[in-house]
Amino acid sequence: MTDQVQCVVVGAGVVGLAVARALALRGMEVMVLEAADAIGTGTSSRNSEVIHAGLYYPPGSLKARLCVEGRNMLYAYASERGIGHQRCGKLLVATAEEQRAGLQSIYERAQANGVTDLRWLDRDQARALEPALECIAALHSPSTGIIDSHGLMLALQGDLENAGGLVVLNSPLAHARIAQEAIELIAFDGTQLHAQYLINAAGLQAPRLAHAFEGLDPAHIPVARFAKGSYFTLAGQAPFKHLIYPAPEAAGLGVHLTLDLGGQAKFGPDVQWVDSAEDLLVDPRRGDAFYAEVRKYWPALPDGALAPGYAGMRPKIHGPHDPAADFCIQGQATHGIPGLVNLFGIESPGLTSALAIGEHVAQMLVQPTANL
Ligand SMILES: Cc1cc2nc3c(=O)[nH]c(=O)nc-3n(C[C@H](O)[C@H](O)[C@H](O)COP(=O)(O)OP(=O)(O)OC[C@H]3O[C@@H](n4cnc5c(N)ncnc54)[C@H](O)[C@@H]3O)c2cc1C
Repeated sequence: MTDQVQCVVVGAGVVGLAVARALALRGMEVMVLEAADAIGTGTSSRNSEVIHAGLYYPPGSLKARLCVEGRNMLYAYASERGIGHQRCGKLLVATAEEQRAGLQSIYERAQANGVTDLRWLDRDQARALEPALECIAALHSPSTGIIDSHGLMLALQGDLENAGGLVVLNSPLAHARIAQEAIELIAFDGTQLHAQYLINAAGLQAPRLAHAFEGLDPAHIPVARFAKGSYFTLAGQAPFKHLIYPAPEAAGLGVHLTLDLGGQAKFGPDVQWVDSAEDLLVDPRRGDAFYAEVRKYWPALPDGALAPGYAGMRPKIHGPHDPAADFCIQGQATHGIPGLVNLFGIESPGLTSALAIGEHVAQMLVQPTANL
């Protein structure tokens, strides 16, 4: 006999866990299928761990909405659950006259996104906050912070399990068949399950997995593209208390300085479009470009201070020369299949937005035909 479960979430990254938690807290029966032997081994453990304020994204986009909502939810959740985090703030800096206009448009975008706490700083004001910093102007974002992403995922898993849900490790979903009464799921080991709801939160693999859903029109599945981001770590103590971001670039936010909760600094991620999601080795030669970029805002960066760190892979659904895509969260209103939700292109600010994405998906199941 085939087992039945009300909701199956594929992927135990921060987004899958947040969705699963939101569904379980609504009283649904939830099972998370995870291919790896632990939770959070994908992109959720290879990022900057920054709680973004919501400055950059086009007003009205899912990224803008879910980032601002998710950030507020995340600070509250982290405080309530004792998850390591720090509202350290960030400085977004212009190091050349022509970057001022870029900062001004970010300022205006932020206002439109409801982020009203940004403050303009001139060079002296910025240096009063960060004496080692070189810039001609800066925007101070006090609601940007950092979080222990593993602590967050453990808390989400804990809530899920307390609400009766479970995470099943070493269980990659191979394919699914959309049937009339339920969705039939088949794992790689042949195990079969019937589910009323199927949430594809497989991150980098989400488009590939969606192609294995019989009955889903492939026209709805975006082409998966991969933009690798390498980090270099700083030997010794950083002279900064805030996160420092240069004016953003086309596909990423520029080689910025982020801090972990222990005060250790890393620089990155840079942007390198690659063909394989598994290409996660850091090429030490990319470090040369980091020195040049970082010295634009921190001229005193010593020679030899950077060491190759780790790399993360952005699950892109647009190409290098296209405008940045929004989060793509498709339910019945898009593809017509009751009970199926696909999450594509959940790149940054996916960590910040995770709790809000969880609520959004739960809402999509309650109001399946609404365009949320
Ligand atoms: C370099 C970089 C820096 C970033 N920095 C930030 C930041 O500072 N702040 C921020 O808000 N966001 C940041 N992000 C974005 C954030 O990390 C992601 O949006 C988020 O981690 C995505 O989580 P996820 O659960 O969707 O994916 P993942 O964490 O990749 O989880 C997907 C899971 O699905 C599993 N899986 C795949 N296929 C199957 C299958 N067939 N069956 C079962 N399981 C399967 C995988 O094993 C994996 O565990 C960054 C991203 C990158 C790449």
